[in-house]
Amino acid sequence: MITYWQRGHGVTTYWSAAIETASVGEVERLQRDGLRRTLRACLRVPHYRDRLARAGVDPAAVRCADDLASVPFMDKDQLRAMQPWGVCATPLADVARFNATTGTTGLPCNIAFTRLDLDDIGELGARNLTAMGVNGDDIAWQCYGYGLWIGGSALDRAYERVGVTAFPAGPGRTSLAIERLRDLGVTVISCTPTFALLLVERAREAGIDPATDWNLRVGIFGGETMSPAAVDLLTEAMPAGFQAHNTYGTTELGGPFVAGTCEFSAAQGTVHVWADHHLVEIVDPESGARVTQPGVTGELVVTSLRREASPMLRWRTRDLTSWAADAYDCPCGRRAHPKISWVSGRTDDVLKVRGTLVMPSQVDDVVRATVGTGAGWQLVVDKDPEGLRATEATVVVEVAGGLDESVVADIGRRLADRLGIRLPVLASRERELPRYEGKARRVLSVTEFAEVAPSLAALVGARPGTVAEPAR
Ligand SMILES: [Zn+2]
Repeated sequence: MITYWQRGHGVTTYWSAAIETASVGEVERLQRDGLRRTLRACLRVPHYRDRLARAGVDPAAVRCADDLASVPFMDKDQLRAMQPWGVCATPLADVARFNATTGTTGLPCNIAFTRLDLDDIGELGARNLTAMGVNGDDIAWQCYGYGLWIGGSALDRAYERVGVTAFPAGPGRTSLAIERLRDLGVTVISCTPTFALLLVERAREAGIDPATDWNLRVGIFGGETMSPAAVDLLTEAMPAGFQAHNTYGTTELGGPFVAGTCEFSAAQGTVHVWADHHLVEIVDPESGARVTQPGVTGELVVTSLRREASPMLRWRTRDLTSWAADAYDCPCGRRAHPKISWVSGRTDDVLKVRGTLVMPSQVDDVVRATVGTGAGWQLVVDKDPEGLRATEATVVVEVAGGLDESVVADIGRRLADRLGIRLPVLASRERELPRYEGKARRVLSVTEFAEVAPSLAALVGARPGTVAEPAR
């Protein structure tokens, strides 16, 4: 860990200063080497070899980022076809570990890691933690999932590398968590923003005030969309000076440390992508054409540059993001590691309601920014699970302190301003909607909603603005 004094910008601490502050040219050279390595690894995998041959791509001719445009994308269906061992570009004897995707959109996929791959998770995790201001004096409460999922073990590696004292609590056990955060003077928490909001809610119910009873100073949030309003709520609830950070990654890409915030990007809603390990593109989800203009939303596509067991060639993440206006010019000095915006949604979460695109993250932002709302909300849609189009989407919101027509009307107005479309809003009492300990499932079909909130489901599709008075 090295700390530099930067003129005009104060102190910045780096984990691997040489590579974090390398020039764009130096990192491009590393990318060309990495791309060569990745293509060589891919040629050992029959699936990749066949696909490149079918597309008429000469792997030797793919030398730089621009050449990648001729390489076919890889998506979830192709990865599924490669199960049960996944990509596995190395002999099984060299695979140290398998993790699996969460299977949010189908069967979980196994992803292989060699010892070097696991070592790289620790390295990138240590870079993220250091950029977030976490150090060896911190005590961390770790709530990302364990088992087959990669989140928990990846955070453990990062904490160990940096020398943080960690409690591998995993998700759940909220009553223990809210007390331990107080009794141990925990300074860092890692979890989804949804779980952090749940902890705040449970703490207050138990008479614990997170702002004064907890000692948290850094939140390492990820695993789902970061809504700026949720981050504001968390920051307000926590002790003064608390900083909400975002760590981005997916299991297919080797875990949660593909990108992360620095002190400047945290305030901006962007993350630095570690460009010596990942070559990123943003593409139009429909045409596949590259999006290069800052601020224009597209799908993140990532090519791994160092992974041995599971090399990824143009992996379609389905995550929506955009280039930051100052992508290569962050005051923190990590100038060769470009900044992209926090993921605003997933291509498979985007709904087309009466012809207008609606992203759950936009609704989340509006609901959380409205005074008087509770912690739970759902978007209930009448669409088939695979489709994009819905004729109607109802926003069901918990209203704190009893049912209040003015809060419902306020949300309706704000949603119309934000989305350009009027959606029916249904109020429910506090604690009537589901709570999530990991990724929140905000979009539910009418049938799914009937299972979690039967008394409210009958009112979906009733007149807009209906205030629910469910039977008790
Ligand atoms: Zn930065």
